[in-house]
Amino acid sequence: MRITSSFLLPAALVLASSALAQNAPRPGAQIPAPALYKLDDAFLEWPLQAQDKAYGAIEGKRLNGYVADLTAISRKYRDQGHPQFWGRIIGTSADSDTAQWMLDKFKQFGLADVHIQSFDLPDQWMPQSWDVSATGGGKTIHAITAQPAYQTKGTPAEGLDLEAVYLGTGSATDFAGRDVKGKAVFIFSMPLPGSWRNTGVLEGGLRMAEERGAAAVFNIVALPGNIRTQLYPTRTNIPTFSMGMDDGYAIRDLIGKGSARVKIKLDIKMTPGMKTGTVWGTLPGVTDETINIIAHRDGWFESGSDNASGVATMVGLAEYFAKVPKAQRRRTIVFAGTSGHHNGGNASGTWLLDHKDEVFAKSALLINCEHTATIQTYLFGEDIRMANTSTAMLWYAGGPSRPKLQAIAVKAFHDFGVATYANPEQAAPGGEMSRLWQHVPGVQASDYNHFFHSDQETAETVPWTGLQAITRAYAKIMVGVNTLDLKDVQRPSEVPATPSPGR
Ligand SMILES: [Zn+2]
Repeated sequence: MRITSSFLLPAALVLASSALAQNAPRPGAQIPAPALYKLDDAFLEWPLQAQDKAYGAIEGKRLNGYVADLTAISRKYRDQGHPQFWGRIIGTSADSDTAQWMLDKFKQFGLADVHIQSFDLPDQWMPQSWDVSATGGGKTIHAITAQPAYQTKGTPAEGLDLEAVYLGTGSATDFAGRDVKGKAVFIFSMPLPGSWRNTGVLEGGLRMAEERGAAAVFNIVALPGNIRTQLYPTRTNIPTFSMGMDDGYAIRDLIGKGSARVKIKLDIKMTPGMKTGTVWGTLPGVTDETINIIAHRDGWFESGSDNASGVATMVGLAEYFAKVPKAQRRRTIVFAGTSGHHNGGNASGTWLLDHKDEVFAKSALLINCEHTATIQTYLFGEDIRMANTSTAMLWYAGGPSRPKLQAIAVKAFHDFGVATYANPEQAAPGGEMSRLWQHVPGVQASDYNHFFHSDQETAETVPWTGLQAITRAYAKIMVGVNTLDLKDVQRPSEVPATPSPGR
């Protein structure tokens, strides 16, 4: 972290709240006894049924190795001078490393027509450095988890020095009678289930702060601990940050003890000339009808589940079907590692939408491999606990007009131990599929978890058993769909009954 010298205070006065979190028991926490086993050694594995033995070739531990490769690409980028805004960020060297990694895998498996389709990106929002600290009553809190919301605006080079105000959960009731003009507003945001959906954004607290003249706004994501989260664009026009709960509590308490001021510096560079791409590979089948598989390559921080897990699933499917004799592959399987969407544009997704009539003309199935496995977490008092299983998935399998596809998917999820809700979503759960499900027979099971889009979404949060289960289920769905004809699954484009839930 580059810290401007004016922000540096005598070390004794600076409270690094993450250190506090690690050393002291959290208030209200029930402290468990020491662990008896490592979760990774004890994940619950779903046994294969006799008729499904062939899918045993898809091994979760091998897939987890792919997750490790991808998360290492993120850390490499972080360690090459990007300590604050890092991940497999679109347009960066981490993006091209991920593309090359996938290209190598496809070549190694013997796929045909392996290539990268390149795209020029519009200027990309790249925060170079930032710093947030709050001072009151002779004490300074250096908010190490402050993270600028995607596409938020920077500060003047000299930074901002603002009065800090605390506005509860940022509802209209909290704002009533409060003067926030020219001030830095701090609100607590309830995670639903994490920073991806949270009350600060959904109930409009951030926008309200701006409308009432605030100069900056902080969305404290109320997940126990001190978690850095990356927010999607908040459509605010003042510097907007997320922040971990420990930092948020500490600043709230400073404000409560009297007056507090906050210093903010945020240097953003709109970076021209960056490139990204779609990584393509094909497994020719007996016919020119297709099954299409996509996975987005990008993500913030280590992005273990979003989307190293999905990429591992797609690569695992390529590896598995490459070993199936061509004569047994009724349809050609087309794989595409997309650029992703954690930026201001969706290069591959837009291209796919614009070319849907060619790409998906004879498609019997599009699987979007996205957030395919996450460790089960529970909010327990002032703690997030992890269990030795994987989470249930939001899912969609072609909707009510494709009952045969839904039946195949439901059975496969059940037989391989993919936990789901009884209710499928009315539209694909998210990502590139959000704009394609209306036009193509789509299947997607995705998890959106507490750690989603945060620095806690590490490789360790991707259970190999979950990866194994979903990848085997997708393979079985592909085989099942090959017993159907195009007329069973292809439908005229649908108008969504409800808006897609988003990304
Ligand atoms: Zn994703």
